[in-house]
Amino acid sequence: MLKFWESITNWLFPEKCLLCGCEIFQKGVFCPKCFPKLTFIDHPICERCGKPLELAIDGIELCFRCVDSKIEFDFCRSLLVYDAYSKKLVMKIKKQADSLIAQKCCSIIAAKYKTKIFDTDFIIPTPSHWSRILRRGYNPATIIAKELSKILNIPVNANVLKRIRKTEYQKNKSISEREENVKGAFSCLRDISGKKVILVDDVFTTGATLNECSKILKSFGAKVIYCITIASTNDVFHKTNS
Ligand SMILES: [Zn+2]
Ligand SMILES: [Zn+2]
Repeated sequence: MLKFWESITNWLFPEKCLLCGCEIFQKGVFCPKCFPKLTFIDHPICERCGKPLELAIDGIELCFRCVDSKIEFDFCRSLLVYDAYSKKLVMKIKKQADSLIAQKCCSIIAAKYKTKIFDTDFIIPTPSHWSRILRRGYNPATIIAKELSKILNIPVNANVLKRIRKTEYQKNKSISEREENVKGAFSCLRDISGKKVILVDDVFTTGATLNECSKILKSFGAKVIYCITIASTNDVFHKTNS
């Protein structure tokens, strides 16, 4: 009976495809044309940064980058490979504050990784500089954090991390330039000893920002840091360490 009413209401009030905006009459958030265009990140992935790996190898699986460099967060998980299609979704959150896209993406992320991230104390959005918030009106990471918060029932705490220095745009910068660019750009406003936190951002590229934020959070006592992003690039460290 419930299914019948579900199908009736679905026809009366169809969902809209998050990518192209067309009406969809079946369950789901993407239309049959758009769904295959998106690349959902699935195993094999690097256990630490969550980026796709080329090969699945038994035991611990880490990408080159996570083997060689100091990663401060415990792990990162992202929903989609960052490409021309997922970029459209991210841009809708970034430029139009589209909380519906954030909500739908977060509910898929939560369904996939809830058992790994449910027992955390609070969610921290990666902070934007005040001048960017002034220009844009909001911080996209806050929109994602709020939606994730509602789904996981874990509070957002936006008063922990602060961006104290405006950084240059990271686009077209190398890994080391990105690390240098964000160095000392954040400060932690309170002691968070023993806390388990989720750090949220829209896109994971080299992880320089998430790593710098994690470094400062750890220095203020964070016990565990899980990072969640909507999308993650797949062009930098795609091979296993084998
Ligand atoms: Zn579509
Ligand atoms: Zn990795």
